Amino acid sequence: MSKHDMHHDGNVLDILRRLIGRCGLYCGACDIYRVFVDKKIDKQKKMGVFFKCRPEQVRCQGCQNLTPDDWCSGCKILACLKENSYMYCYECGKIENCGIYQELNGRYNNLPYKNLERLREVGEKKWLEEQMTRWHCPGCGEPIEYSTETCTQCGFNLTKIND
Ligand code: SF4
Ligand code: SF4
Ligand SMILES: [Zn+2]
Repeated sequence: MSKHDMHHDGNVLDILRRLIGRCGLYCGACDIYRVFVDKKIDKQKKMGVFFKCRPEQVRCQGCQNLTPDDWCSGCKILACLKENSYMYCYECGKIENCGIYQELNGRYNNLPYKNLERLREVGEKKWLEEQMTRWHCPGCGEPIEYSTETCTQCGFNLTKIND
């Protein structure tokens, strides 16, 4: 699905909402999501070795579309959100001092927190449009991942893009 589809089909927002991580991560750039939906079998095997799990366990369909087999189905942040009846962690007054949130946020260089602030500001539709633009290669238009430094399709140097 291309980012342009969003302008033509109102239902696309419902489909893409699954990619809005309730912690602020954009699931469309998650390596686990990408290996699974793009069927990158070799990379899935390597990630299985890295995570010490079976390759088929390296799978996820996005934060708002999880099945019990998906990677983040046991997410502690998600469990906490549900318990407190919040949709996103920005609704929570404890975020600055929340250990599980700040641990994740640190691992991703403050990106989840920044993304949540932006989500609060502009809403889901615009946020998704921005994220999709950010996480597609400027050289060839293919989806890119948080971990990608050089586009595997066209060789574009992605480290020059600022968050
Ligand atoms: S593992 Fe799943 S829910 Fe977690 S960030 Fe990746 S795609 Fe999103
Ligand atoms: S306590 Fe932490 S994980 Fe739970 S809703 Fe607040 S910020 Fe999110
Ligand atoms: Zn490219």
